Amino acid sequence: MADIPPILWIGIGIVVSVVAMLVPALTIFVAVGILFAVIGIAKMVRASKDTGSLTNKNAYHTVSPRNEQSAGIDAKVCFVCAAKNSSLANFCGHCGHRLK
Ligand SMILES: [Zn+2]
Repeated sequence: MADIPPILWIGIGIVVSVVAMLVPALTIFVAVGILFAVIGIAKMVRASKDTGSLTNKNAYHTVSPRNEQSAGIDAKVCFVCAAKNSSLANFCGHCGHRLK
């Protein structure tokens, strides 16, 4: 039962409740269908929360090295003294050499 995807629960729920609504003798199954759909929605919400926290964690892990990398790319490294300078700097803050 645990392997049934949430969308299937919702699909079964909608089908069961629609069929039950159309057939007067199956009116009781409307509740069953709605129950299935609610279970499916609950599972979907839980699954999306899980993947959301996972992607957040992944983002956390990938953001910091990416930031360091981009900082390294953006920074102007002085070719005289190898000091890192802001990408906006025109002159090296360490030795005063003009940055290209
Ligand atoms: Zn320098």
